[in-house]
Amino acid sequence: MALAIPFGSVANKEQLERGLHVAISETVRIPPESIDPAIKNYHWLDLVKGLFDAYDKGAETALIVDTNGHIAEGPGFNVFVVKDESLRTPAFGVLPGITRRTVFDLCAEIGLSATTVDVSRAEIKAADEVFITSTAGGIMPVTRIDDTAIANGLVGSITRRLMELYWQKHDDPAWSNAVSYP
Ligand SMILES: *Cc1c(COP(=O)(O)O)cnc(C)c1O
Repeated sequence: MALAIPFGSVANKEQLERGLHVAISETVRIPPESIDPAIKNYHWLDLVKGLFDAYDKGAETALIVDTNGHIAEGPGFNVFVVKDESLRTPAFGVLPGITRRTVFDLCAEIGLSATTVDVSRAEIKAADEVFITSTAGGIMPVTRIDDTAIANGLVGSITRRLMELYWQKHDDPAWSNAVSYP
């Protein structure tokens, strides 16, 4: 299936500049045994409940947890943590998004290590940088999780570099297909 709609973004212009404020919800992502998360679907009661929890806490969007209590993903996006110049993203119970895949490709190109692993709540709050990924917005910085500022609370340099590279690739014929309209 293919659909064409106006481009939307999880983060607005201001949030892209200063980083999103995210709350970790107690809501558990529906287990893969119930709904295969690798299939893009809108069975979103878990993600929407997580979003409402986040709004109640004064945050802008949510991360919810997997059945083992690790970080899973948010409403329409995957998440990455950067620690000591290595990138990690949850392995289990998530939609393996195309933008997540693109981050792996970009990291290979610029020589950064990126792996899929379990990511704990403590680990994400102690990260040097955090960002989320979605077709809706690309690579988007996170600078606060619950009441914790990520590192110095500013958008990190690796996140900035990947954001720039991601948008540059849209004009690179090796990465894009031009559509000619009649
Ligand atoms: C769409 C979506 C993503 C992001 O996938 P992309 O292919 O990068 O747009 C991540 N998680 C969920 C639950 C989604 O629905």
